[in-house]
Amino acid sequence: MKQKNAREQAGLLYHSLIRSITFAGIVLIAAVLGISIWTLRQDWNDTVRQSEETATNLALSQARQAEDTFLQTELAMREMQRDVESQLVTGINSRNLSQTMRELQGRLPQLHGLFYYDAQGKWIATSASQIPADINNSDREYFRFQRDNPRNSIHLGPVIRSRSTGDLVIPVSLRISDALRGFQGVLLATVKVDYFRHFYAYYEMGPKDVLVLMLADSSVLYARPMPDSFIGKDLSSSHLFQQMLQGTNRGSGQWTSALDGKPRIFGFARSDRYPLVVAAGYDTHSLFIKWMKGRVQDVSLSLALLSAIVAMGVFVLRQARHSLHYQLELTNLRDELSAANYALNRLAHADALTGLANRRAFDRYLEECILAADTHNEPVSLVMIDIDYFKRYNDTYGHVAGDECLKRVALAINAISLRGTDLVARYGGEEFAIVLPGADIEHAMSVAAAAVQAVRGQDIIHDSSLLASQRVTLSAGCASLNTERENRSAQLLIRQADMALYSAKQAGRNQVKSDESYLNTHS
Ligand code: GH3
Ligand code: MG
Ligand code: MG
Repeated sequence: MKQKNAREQAGLLYHSLIRSITFAGIVLIAAVLGISIWTLRQDWNDTVRQSEETATNLALSQARQAEDTFLQTELAMREMQRDVESQLVTGINSRNLSQTMRELQGRLPQLHGLFYYDAQGKWIATSASQIPADINNSDREYFRFQRDNPRNSIHLGPVIRSRSTGDLVIPVSLRISDALRGFQGVLLATVKVDYFRHFYAYYEMGPKDVLVLMLADSSVLYARPMPDSFIGKDLSSSHLFQQMLQGTNRGSGQWTSALDGKPRIFGFARSDRYPLVVAAGYDTHSLFIKWMKGRVQDVSLSLALLSAIVAMGVFVLRQARHSLHYQLELTNLRDELSAANYALNRLAHADALTGLANRRAFDRYLEECILAADTHNEPVSLVMIDIDYFKRYNDTYGHVAGDECLKRVALAINAISLRGTDLVARYGGEEFAIVLPGADIEHAMSVAAAAVQAVRGQDIIHDSSLLASQRVTLSAGCASLNTERENRSAQLLIRQADMALYSAKQAGRNQVKSDESYLNTHS
């Protein structure tokens, strides 16, 4: 029972230990995971923010570059415009005009060509080597724009393919008006798309990163690294034009590119001077892979830390299980030892036949009681009991029956009402003793009478008894060590009780006597 309890306790302890260690392990793992994920998230957000900044700066610088390109073109055209308008009255000198145009074109590398068409769209002058016959440009978008807009403003149109060379060009046009603001034709400069293509090729960008030059009305002028088929694409439904450019001229963000449907980190800028927008976009997926490669070391470290925590937890658990196992074994061993010790103790102090306390236990207990009585100044009483005519019983029924009789007598005496501190012992042979600590002689007498009565009550036949009852009977003698007595020893008490017992025998047996009665009879 005890062993089972110890085992159950150890089991409970082990399980609560497992729970604690598991809980601590989970908290630690969650903390390491949480911190790692949080750090990684922060780092990724920083990387995205930096990319957005870089993209915005790139878009801004490209917008400035495009502005410069078109500003140089505009300045050259304004010069031409003055020239042409001054010749309107005198008559246009086509040859001189073409010459001036060629000189200007030679100075500006972005220029594909310079042209002047009259009010009907007929070629009047050009930087090209010759004026092609039968070409009329009145159908072009820029021609119609300038014809219908009397404002003297420069106009950038969507990319067209040159009718003279077949190149892709951006048309930049200016209206020629007479003194009365009447339409007198269009001055056109064509800017090479290839100029931007070469320029953008200088920038180190990934194969999926984009750099796009657009008109403010959302048509693509050039998109790096897309094929030419993307030129002229309408991006008005894109996130850039729908959301980002509303109310701001520059900014950044992440969205799906309207060009090819890929997610990118974008920066964009709108030109203040011309209707131009530039967007630079870094491929989010490529950036993420590059970022992840840079974090392999951190992630491996975190994983190593996690593995170390798990390994440590397992190790601690195993150790705990071992030490608990040993503890359990020790507890079992201790329990077995104390059980054996208890049994030995019982054996050493019990009488084998009756199970009562033996003589040794009696002697020790009586000594202890007398010592304690001395300390507390209390009386100690003793009852000595002897079976009457027991030799005759043995002789009549044999020793085996005699032993049985002894057992019954012992049981009967032990069953009388006693206090917890009272002790019934087998004194020797067919003699018993009852130690009554704290009891006076009257109390002892009543206990002795109860014992004598209890055996009478057993009604054990004893045919050879010399008493008339022919039953097994007891004689008992009581003695008490009172507080006034100076010589308080066990021997004295035993002697007095013995004398009282002798006196009971003398008086006819089957009765109780006290030492006082002995003193009375023998004084
Ligand atoms: P009295 O009434 O004067 O006490 O007579 P008695 O015969 O009881 O006294 P006596 O001392 O002459 O005899 C005691 C007997 O008790 C002797 C012995 O045969 C018997 N006896 C002692 N110990 C045991 C025992 O352990 N078992 C048995 N069966 N008999 C025992
Ligand atoms: Mg005897
Ligand atoms: Mg006897």
